[in-house]
Amino acid sequence: MKSIVVACSNCGTKNRIPADKQHLGPKCGKCKAPLSLSAAAVPVELDDSTFSGFTSRASKPVLVDFFSPTCGPCRLLAPTIDTMARKFYGRVIIAKLDTSRNHITAAQYRIKGVPTLLFFKNGKLVDQVTGALPEQELTRLLEEFAE
Ligand SMILES: [Zn+2]
Repeated sequence: MKSIVVACSNCGTKNRIPADKQHLGPKCGKCKAPLSLSAAAVPVELDDSTFSGFTSRASKPVLVDFFSPTCGPCRLLAPTIDTMARKFYGRVIIAKLDTSRNHITAAQYRIKGVPTLLFFKNGKLVDQVTGALPEQELTRLLEEFAE
């Protein structure tokens, strides 16, 4: 699991936060001040073993980018997904799943083409879109989806 390093705005201590814990109100390990992650947030990388637990227990709506590393449109969309993780930090959890390595989850959601974006609220699939959306369009969808 990827992690991010965030400097505490209060004491300057660098804190390492696992990507899947970004959304749990992380605090500075030294002074306990809340850490602001909005400039550093990254998509949470999910796999077959973590997918259903993460999406069902998430405190915020979750967008999952189902992608394959060899797919051109997926690579085109990836920087937009990274941007959304920062832009919607605290409102929507941005995640991704590599369908070339996680066949069980991809089959469960009948993913036929990638990239496919799945929108979950309270662990339930509420919407899905296939194809690499322009940043503006994805922002609009997430504004509607955010709480
Ligand atoms: Zn601190």
